[in-house]
Amino acid sequence: MELFRPDMHRRAVLRLEIQADLQRALGRNELVVHYQPIVDLASGRVEGTEALLRWQHPTRGVIMPDDFIPIAEATGMIVPIGYWVLREACRQTAQWRGRHPAASRLWVSVNISARQLAERDLVAQVGSALEETGLPSGALVLEITEGTLIQDIAETALKLQALKDLGVRLAIDDFGTGSSSLGYLRHFPIDVLKIDKSFVDGLSAAGTDGSALVEAIVEMARTLRLSTVAEGIEGKDQLAELQAMGCRSGQGFLFARPLAATAVEEFLRDGVAAPATI
Ligand code: C2E
Ligand code: MG
Ligand code: MG
Repeated sequence: MELFRPDMHRRAVLRLEIQADLQRALGRNELVVHYQPIVDLASGRVEGTEALLRWQHPTRGVIMPDDFIPIAEATGMIVPIGYWVLREACRQTAQWRGRHPAASRLWVSVNISARQLAERDLVAQVGSALEETGLPSGALVLEITEGTLIQDIAETALKLQALKDLGVRLAIDDFGTGSSSLGYLRHFPIDVLKIDKSFVDGLSAAGTDGSALVEAIVEMARTLRLSTVAEGIEGKDQLAELQAMGCRSGQGFLFARPLAATAVEEFLRDGVAAPATI
């Protein structure tokens, strides 16, 4: 009897290997946080960064989050890993703020998965990360995807309010990709909408309603007094359109890729991401 085709078998084995290796990755210092500059689209200044996890696997090379975060979520390993990312991002950002006058108000955005949001002690962990690293709470943004928010609206609303009470800001990541209705927005104390890359891609695609869609999101955010961060800006035309629409902030390869901490320092010294493109 053949249950698996060979390629399915290989994939299952790979997943088990990754799972076993991931268990040891944190203790062996194989996880690294990279930071992607987020810029004020009007001035080009770096106002914050998004913390993005990388895994430097001893034999497989660098593994990207899409290839191990789902496994970490399924096994629950995302919880200790996520707390580590949070502390590391807070520590690094507090250090940058102290070192570089141009970065004295720098903030950091950290991704929080559904599994982490469900943790009883998330609020306490965020509080102690801020306290231990000395990062002011207003300099931390927690990113949560739409899908995560609507899993248990009442419970989630309470937890988000407790996080807000610490003084942190909350962002909806990948906004517009979930199938949820917009009605949920009023239940949650959200500060920022991150416009998903797929919409930003639509800006440059000829013959589509891409521009109207992004404009509607920016307009709605303005009405709800939310700020907007456009994700995945790659082209100058996209930047020009977003600026014209009044989108506040953005990140993308046009400005900078996610970078190792040492490489981010260069941006922070001058405070400007890509003067030639603005
Ligand atoms: P995300 O939170 O939506 O992060 C943005 C992703 O878009 C990053 O991919 C970033 O490198 C990529 N990106 C930014 N600008 C551009 C661009 O101009 N062009 C293109 N093609 N891509 C761009 P990355 O680093 O591979 O991360 C993928 C996802 O993994 C993240 O999506 C996030 O959902 C998750 N992730 C990353 N780090 C963490 C973490 O520490 N914890 C959790 N729970 N999830 C994480
Ligand atoms: Mg994100
Ligand atoms: Mg995103």
